[in-house]
Amino acid sequence: MEKSSEVSGFYKKSMEERLKFIQEFACLTDEEVATIRNTGGLPVGTADKMIENVVGGLTLPMGIGVNFRINGKDILIPMVIEEPSVVAAASNAARMARVKGGFSADFSGPVMIAQVQLVDVDRPQEAKEKILARKNDILELAAKQDPILIQAGGGPKDLEVRVIETSMGPMVITHLLVDTRDAMGANAVNTMAEAVAPMIEQITGGRVLLRILSNLAVHRLARARAVFEREIIGGEAVVEGILNAWAFAEADPFRAATHNKGIMNGISSVVLATGNDTRAIEAGAHSYAARNGRYSSLTTYEKDADGNLVGSIEVPMAVGIVGGATKTHPVARIALKIMDIQSAAQLAQIIACVGLAQNFAALRALATEGIQRGHMGLHARNVAISAGAQGELVDKIAQQMVKERKVRADRAKELLAEYSNK
Ligand code: NAD
Repeated sequence: MEKSSEVSGFYKKSMEERLKFIQEFACLTDEEVATIRNTGGLPVGTADKMIENVVGGLTLPMGIGVNFRINGKDILIPMVIEEPSVVAAASNAARMARVKGGFSADFSGPVMIAQVQLVDVDRPQEAKEKILARKNDILELAAKQDPILIQAGGGPKDLEVRVIETSMGPMVITHLLVDTRDAMGANAVNTMAEAVAPMIEQITGGRVLLRILSNLAVHRLARARAVFEREIIGGEAVVEGILNAWAFAEADPFRAATHNKGIMNGISSVVLATGNDTRAIEAGAHSYAARNGRYSSLTTYEKDADGNLVGSIEVPMAVGIVGGATKTHPVARIALKIMDIQSAAQLAQIIACVGLAQNFAALRALATEGIQRGHMGLHARNVAISAGAQGELVDKIAQQMVKERKVRADRAKELLAEYSNK
């Protein structure tokens, strides 16, 4: 009989019932069921409330980025990621940045944008002016939606109105600018956008459709900067190599995609470690990288008067320390404690520094020995583990494969058989 994935009320079942169902559906062994049932540092009851249809968890390693000195303070940075060599690269870059005092960072403030889309307007410019004329009323109504946020010192601060041309005709887009303090703020600003929509319809006579935040958080920018001493990073040729690598990314979207992917290796791993929304940050970063009409680098590099390399990054950073999973996931709370985080602004700055560190490390490797040498050593361990190696055989097989420049599953299996028989 063909199996059916159509299940009504799956969400109403207990986790055990769901597990039983998928065990039968996918012929899982008891051991496999026990493996997914294990939710690691996240209590089962919390996991079950966090998303829908929960059957278990997937634990990723948390590594600690070391050597970071940010705005004069030493910080240990939890990073959660499945990819080898990211934590090592960030730590290595941070060690080199320390020589010149580490990273300096700042933050533009936690202001999010909520968009309200207005259609069916005959005179869009007039509608825009009418909305702007009632700015205070709109902001006041928005503020009423979240007294807790107002108490925390945040709330709606300003309003922008844009007329855009679309394939469906002109639209009037209102941006509510909301200071969301220590929250990422998606729920907070979405509620406000929904609340003010009828007022905008009434003011303009138009029809409101979408009411939702924008992840292109241009009023919530984190910036970081570091000076890398020429001799520490390998001399003049390395400085020139990195400048060329960066210029390539700045000029070419094909290169910029991978350049920024490396930056996000660092950024997303801290975002994830703190229970924040990786997709929100990634959408913000990539759209910001294309803000001038061509997708480009999120970092910049230049030489200072002494020939040292100066790197900087500017990236939207809508992370929170209240709300979402940041408070409910116990591991995320511990991650914040490790970094001694007191505000979302502080976290945003740290994350920008990790992004810059990661980018510097990648460019330095690419501009010198190539990325594979360092990367392959770590990758080789994963290949060895996948081939079934355990204990000290993991390193032994990995080292041999790197030496032979054959980091491959078939070679790992051969070596495993060879060493196991000894
Ligand atoms: P939330 O609604 O859980 O918590 C935020 C609320 O906490 C605020 O509205 C405020 O009332 C209260 N609060 C208490 N102390 C505060 C302080 N010091 N500073 C600020 N607020 C304080 O969470 P949220 O941050 O509004 O939403 C985040 C969640 O929304 C994330 O899980 C995200 O994944 C999700 N989300 C994202 C998108 C998107 O990115 N496009 C869309 C929808 C939802």
